[in-house]
Amino acid sequence: MTTLETEMLEMVLQTLRDYAARQLKPEFLRALDERDEFPVDVLKALYDPDKIGLHLLFIPEAYGGLGGGAYDIYRVSEQMARIDLGIATAVLATFLGTDPITVGGTEEQKAHWMGRIAEEGLLVAYGATEPQAGSDLGALTTKAVPVEEDGRVVGYRISGRKQWISNGSVATLYTILANAPGGPSWFIVERDAPGFGKGKPEDKHGIRASNTAALFLDDVYVPADQLVGLVEGQGLAQAQAVFGYTRLMVAAFGLGGGWSALERAVRYAQTRVQGGAPLITKQAYTHKLLVPNAARLEAARAYIEWVAERIDAGEPGLQTEGAVAKYLATESGNRAAEDAIQAHGGYGYTKEYMVEKIKRDVRITCIYEGTSEIMEWTIARDRWQLHLKTQGAYYRDWAARVERLAADRPDTGAATAALALHALAELLERCRVDRLTRSQHLLFRLGELIAAAETAAIFAERAARAPSQASALPADALAAMARVYARDAAIKVAADGLRWATGAGQTDPELPARLRLPAIYAAQAGQMEDMNAVAAALAAAFPAE
Ligand SMILES: Cc1cc2nc3c(=O)[nH]c(=O)nc-3n(C[C@H](O)[C@H](O)[C@H](O)COP(=O)(O)OP(=O)(O)OC[C@H]3O[C@@H](n4cnc5c(N)ncnc54)[C@H](O)[C@@H]3O)c2cc1C
Repeated sequence: MTTLETEMLEMVLQTLRDYAARQLKPEFLRALDERDEFPVDVLKALYDPDKIGLHLLFIPEAYGGLGGGAYDIYRVSEQMARIDLGIATAVLATFLGTDPITVGGTEEQKAHWMGRIAEEGLLVAYGATEPQAGSDLGALTTKAVPVEEDGRVVGYRISGRKQWISNGSVATLYTILANAPGGPSWFIVERDAPGFGKGKPEDKHGIRASNTAALFLDDVYVPADQLVGLVEGQGLAQAQAVFGYTRLMVAAFGLGGGWSALERAVRYAQTRVQGGAPLITKQAYTHKLLVPNAARLEAARAYIEWVAERIDAGEPGLQTEGAVAKYLATESGNRAAEDAIQAHGGYGYTKEYMVEKIKRDVRITCIYEGTSEIMEWTIARDRWQLHLKTQGAYYRDWAARVERLAADRPDTGAATAALALHALAELLERCRVDRLTRSQHLLFRLGELIAAAETAAIFAERAARAPSQASALPADALAAMARVYARDAAIKVAADGLRWATGAGQTDPELPARLRLPAIYAAQAGQMEDMNAVAAALAAAFPAE
């Protein structure tokens, strides 16, 4: 996969920021939210190659696009989410909608459809979910019945219903997942195809500037050359193949939404005086509502960047890594926005303050493109298989590598992250011996613990060797945040792990010692001082306006 030159990416980001400063002011965005309105003109401007041409970013150069890579898409998605998550979702839906073609289309299909999307700036929708098939897409019932002429399939008649489709009533092109005789398959359906109906836009909790609607397909005829890849039965594999990528994009939405709220809280805390001094000077305020959110968001950023670089280096798969990135960044973004409301007190509970809207908007990122629970399951299931396949070496070896990093760079929390990975290896092994993963709740909790331990390790490593260029905070603040995050992760893995394993009937009386709980508690030394440093760095990075 190619990536944009740094200057080109910076130019796209700056163009977006300038456009938002001129056209997407808070009053305008709040009015769209209030009126539940999809801003057609904004999308036109974003897709207009003479203005921004945002859709060109994810179309390969061969078909008239810019050929952006995963890193570029993460940066632009974060920026879009900082501006407005509803508008960002309309852009995401086009990207998602073209994915089945990018991944599974024939060369002719790509040239034709991607070329049209690039040139005409078409809005696209991705139609997978159905009323009875959400997390469990395999339960889909939309059918594609072949139409034969002279013994040859010339087309399909598609019937069924799709639910919660972004851009559902405003798109020009749709990719629709339907059961053909050979299995689930993607079809390209045009807006005006006879029998293709669109529902009323849903009245949603947040991202109200995005259009979400049901689709009704009643014997919709689609020519055979609009079956993606021209082979039936590839649909679920094609949907899986893009998850590493698309989940990274939603992860960046969580990151952007979360930072947008947190940044506002940090600025507010410097002007709001209570108890005789600005709130930013109150440790109980900063260390509860600001610092842990900054650490979680920057930990998620480090993981996102790690995955993006691997995708851009051409590594296939990475669905599990995409799931970890999505899970952590969206849960962290949601939590940051929730705490930003609290940080604004009563003002945060009113529509006048943007944190109220951001909180409602960012909530969706924990639901679409796979819910947080489905992410926990995916992560646990995949890493559990790795644990079994490597007879426990996967996390033991990773812990040893991070210990070596700690010897080199003791200042980024690597020693504590190694304790988290070590505890994880012990916990998984105990689960194997006592057959604990038969408990679904324990399995899902393992997903959460795995995500925390892996992210602590990646954050420590990147804070040491490749601090993010995209963060608003300097390298020493990132190192302090990596230490804060590693301590939280180690406690979580060992204490929660012990709790759930014991609850599910683990039999080893030595488990607390094997998890090295005393060492993990000892590693908490210095936490308050690091949190003080992070609070100071936040205030410096985001001064009062
Ligand atoms: C605003 C919006 C935009 C969307 N855009 C699109 C789009 O463009 N295209 C598209 O195809 N879809 C889209 N979706 C659909 C979205 O991806 C689904 O809503 C999501 O995957 C969850 O499916 P569901 O709503 O049916 O919930 P369900 O699958 O019914 O889940 C309900 C709850 O049960 C949990 N759960 C589910 N299965 C299990 C299990 N096996 N074990 C334990 N817990 C479980 C879930 O985590 C969740 O908490 C959109 C949804 C929304 C709300």
